[in-house]
This record gives sequence, structure tokens and C-alpha cells, in this order.
Amino acid sequence: MSIEPYEVYAIRYATIARRSSENFIGGDPHESGARMDYFVWLVRNGARSFVVDTGFNEQAAHRRKRDFLRPPTEGLAMLGVDAAQVSEVILTHMHYDHVGNFDLFPNARFHLQDREMSFATGRYMCCGPFAHAYEVDEVVGMVRRVYAGRVEFHDGDAELAPGLSLHHIGGHTLGLQAVRVWTRVGWLVLASDASHYYANMEEARPFPIVADVTAMVDGWRRLKALASAPRHVVPGHDPLVMQRYRAPDASMEGTVVRLDAEPAP
Ligand SMILES: [Zn+2]
Repeated sequence: MSIEPYEVYAIRYATIARRSSENFIGGDPHESGARMDYFVWLVRNGARSFVVDTGFNEQAAHRRKRDFLRPPTEGLAMLGVDAAQVSEVILTHMHYDHVGNFDLFPNARFHLQDREMSFATGRYMCCGPFAHAYEVDEVVGMVRRVYAGRVEFHDGDAELAPGLSLHHIGGHTLGLQAVRVWTRVGWLVLASDASHYYANMEEARPFPIVADVTAMVDGWRRLKALASAPRHVVPGHDPLVMQRYRAPDASMEGTVVRLDAEPAP
């Protein structure tokens, strides 16, 4: 393939200790300590770069009792990216941990699924369990971006550039999208919350925050089919990502790992 491969980075900006039973519908018989890590991602080659999700800020971390490690924009800066200059942001969905900080990207166009905006502004937001992971001010802020001509809507699958495409998965939210990227190790898929942990998709155990369980289950198959190999599907919140991949250099240890690489088994 003659497409210039993309480099892909996961940037960890927050974490929280939790019980593993919180990660699976029906709980976990091997109840144990488990962490949830929070990431944004950077995808770039010589011609283009895309930021995938924008994370939350320190105030949101405090409100929701997460351990905030650093602003996601600081992680991007480590990779030489100035948020204020970024022109393309892909939002996998609009939950607070994926869309917060969107205001720090004043020059960006935001790529979003039609169904995500309609879910986040529609009837299901009257219902606590669906609304809980959204922040109404952020949703309203994105509506303002729509009116400012800053949102590019997609309905299903869309190619944004050669070797980079979006894929509507649904499940976790009705409009969740995953990102497929051509890299030096083949097709890599950023699953975001189509699978929070490796175990969700590998053991067919759905995460409990879910709008449509059947779409979530079908989504795991989609993710695997989109990647060159199942090991190149990167889950959205799993601390194992920081163990299976390596930092680009010692200064980024614990913050950034490079995903277009062979993961440790
Ligand atoms: Zn999330």
C-alpha cells in the first residue's frame, strides 16, 4: 500500500482505582483491584495530524473524584503538538472524559457522528443512567460549535484521509465511533469505549455503561475485522495499554506510549 503510515500515540492524563466488578455486566467472580486509565490519542504522518478525543480537565476530575495526572494538552505538547493550532479533532463520543477541553482547540473542526449528537440532545438524556456521563455544558458547547460551522457530521463510516477512517459502532452510546488507521504494523483500530478493557471484547463481557448491548457485542466483531490482527485493537481505558506499549523516550514514561508497534504479549 502506498499510503504514508501514521504514527499513533496514547496519552494518559488521569486514572482511578476501582473494583473489577464495576467493569462487567454481572460483576466479576474474581473480584480484584482494577484501575481505569483515561487517554486521548494522537494520529499523525508527514502530511496530517488528528487528535482523537480531548479528555477532561482538573475541575471535572475533582467533581468526579478521578486522579488527574496532567492536562491532556500537556501530553500533546510533549509530542510537539500545540492544541491551539490543531485543525482536526475526532470525537469518538461526547462523554465528559472524551469531549471536555474541546474549548482548548479553538481552530479545530470536530468530527462527530450524527447519532451521537442526537443521542446527547434527545429523549434518553431525561434518564439519569444515560445522562450521567455527559456534561450538559459541554453538550451545549458542542451545539454552539455546530452553529459556528466547526462540526463535521458523519453518518456511519467515513474516510477522512487516505489510511484513516471513522466507523460507527454504537453500543456504549448510540453514536460512538472507532478510528481505523494505517500504520507500519498494518491496520490499527482505536476502539475508544467500544471496549473499555481488553477483557470486555476478548471475553465477551460487556461494560455496564451501555445504551445498546447488542450493538456493543456486534461492535467487538467489527473492531477485530477492521484491524490487521485482533492485537491491534486498542481499548479505551485499559491500564494494560501502558504496559504493552513503550514510551517514545524516557521523558514520556508513564504518560505517552506509541501504539503503532507490536504489543508485548
Ligand atoms: Zn470513556
